Amino acid sequence: MPSDLEIAQGATLRPMTEVGALLGLDADELEPFGRHAAKVELSALHESTTRGRYVVVTAVTPTPLGEGKTTTTVGLTEGCGLAGLRATAVLRQPSLGPVFGIKGGAAGAGLAQVVPMEAMNLHLTGDFHAVTAAHNLLAAMVDNHLQHGNALGIEPHSITWGRVLDMNDRALRNIVVGLGGRLDGVPRQSRFDITAASEVMTILSLSASIGDLRARLGRIVVGFDRDGQPVTAEDLHAAGAMAVLLKDALRPNLLQTLEGQPALIHCGPFGNIATGNSSILADRLGLQRSDIVITEAGFGADLGFERFVNVKCRTSGLTPDAAVVVVTVRALKVHSGRFTVSAGKPLPPEMLEESPGDVAAGLANLAHHLDIVAAAGVPAVVAINAFPDDHPSEHAVIERFAHQRGVRVAITRHVAEGGVGAQDLVREVLAATQEGSHLRYTYDLEDALEVKLRKLATLVYGAADVELTPAAAADLRRFAALGYAGLPVLVAKTHLSTTATPVDRGAPTGWVLPIREVRLAAGAGYVYALAGQMQTMPGLGAHPAAERMDLTDEGRIVGLF
Ligand code: ADP
Ligand code: MG
Repeated sequence: MPSDLEIAQGATLRPMTEVGALLGLDADELEPFGRHAAKVELSALHESTTRGRYVVVTAVTPTPLGEGKTTTTVGLTEGCGLAGLRATAVLRQPSLGPVFGIKGGAAGAGLAQVVPMEAMNLHLTGDFHAVTAAHNLLAAMVDNHLQHGNALGIEPHSITWGRVLDMNDRALRNIVVGLGGRLDGVPRQSRFDITAASEVMTILSLSASIGDLRARLGRIVVGFDRDGQPVTAEDLHAAGAMAVLLKDALRPNLLQTLEGQPALIHCGPFGNIATGNSSILADRLGLQRSDIVITEAGFGADLGFERFVNVKCRTSGLTPDAAVVVVTVRALKVHSGRFTVSAGKPLPPEMLEESPGDVAAGLANLAHHLDIVAAAGVPAVVAINAFPDDHPSEHAVIERFAHQRGVRVAITRHVAEGGVGAQDLVREVLAATQEGSHLRYTYDLEDALEVKLRKLATLVYGAADVELTPAAAADLRRFAALGYAGLPVLVAKTHLSTTATPVDRGAPTGWVLPIREVRLAAGAGYVYALAGQMQTMPGLGAHPAAERMDLTDEGRIVGLF
């Protein structure tokens, strides 16, 4: 079996003009970036009265094994293409941190990949670097403001705007800037986050236009003055220059699937600490110019899908027609609580034995995520992503469970077979999009911030209650008093369980969501609450994926999965 990278490197790609033509794009609406990637001009977005069907891909709680949301997004797009539909996949651009950390490539797998996968996984068209530059420009201007007399009266200890880098680098989590002499800055403690956690990344993904991007950048709050009033990027006269740096990054990137359908790759906010969804502009572009758009939301339905509904769709005004909930036999076995797996390690051999009972024992987790989708009013399809070592009796357990719940279900074999292997899923998804979706948000914007938090905890995570530290509760009151009460609330929590404790399995109830800190992302337009020990800068493991990568003398990349 060739590796994903070998399959991708052996593929014959369509010229970009042909891929663009599938979206009805003229040559002057595409700016080629190398031979097999292009930026789409924003002028290609028009007011459209018709739109394609809008399908979001989510999943059960992730395990370190990978459940296959990206492969399913790509495979379903290939399958729809094969069925004669104009289909477009929309995905986030992978962050370099996970690519060189645990995950390796994130462009799909087997015959369901976006190509060129090296471009998608590495620098692509430089958007992440632009986000890093724009974020750090603002950081430099904050410190420069302190250096030159601090006319705005910024309280240095209140500055929440750190620096970012697109790399897993734990040694940068806590830093001191401004060491040295009088001309070397004002000393203060600060931090680095990964670029995918930058508020600028989320702003880019939620912006409807250049003007909207510019306005959101201006609303970024970097800290507070001595009277407790917010100090913004606009106050520092930084937002215009940040927008200049982001001009090209606002345009979606066009690549293709292995079977030649358009794939729009745009933005990459993390799913646990940010919104976890690709851009509104990419979805909208696809919807205006395709029969069906398949877009991936990160992690389980408690994270990416919840934000897809409450933040992305609320902002864009778009409503999905169906949601695909990806599940694997191996994930349900892990959610049974009977097995322990870790990233990069071989599966325990007893997990590969035929055991429908272990699969059944993990169904509570699938049920929980289906409940979240049902509560949002979106018709669901369970996609059983088949692995080579699954047993038919194990698939049958999931199928029977879905039938009993009255939810559509299909086994999909896109990784081994490409679009041909996704035809059952295509049929169920198209049928689901005919059912009629009635999108319901989890909370109203008029709800108090604390009420929004409580609704997320109880209605989405299955918690009994929320417990805020006194500091977090005080900050929520302060944000409300400063005029931010109408913003959505996000919970930055682990993606490895439905609770705030990563080792929990299944779908526990009766627990309390602990909130230790709340932060303001006024530019992106939300307040986020940190549950447990969430890292906004990941670290590397003992043997990161980077150790397996190399470049041959001929310039060929090896080991990128
Ligand atoms: P997610 O988007 O949910 O994180 P991906 O689609 O990126 O998951 O899949 C993660 C990894 O799991 C892939 O890179 C691949 O190695 C593996 N994988 C997913 N689906 C299959 C499958 N059907 N058969 C074999 N391997 C798979
Ligand atoms: Mg993915």
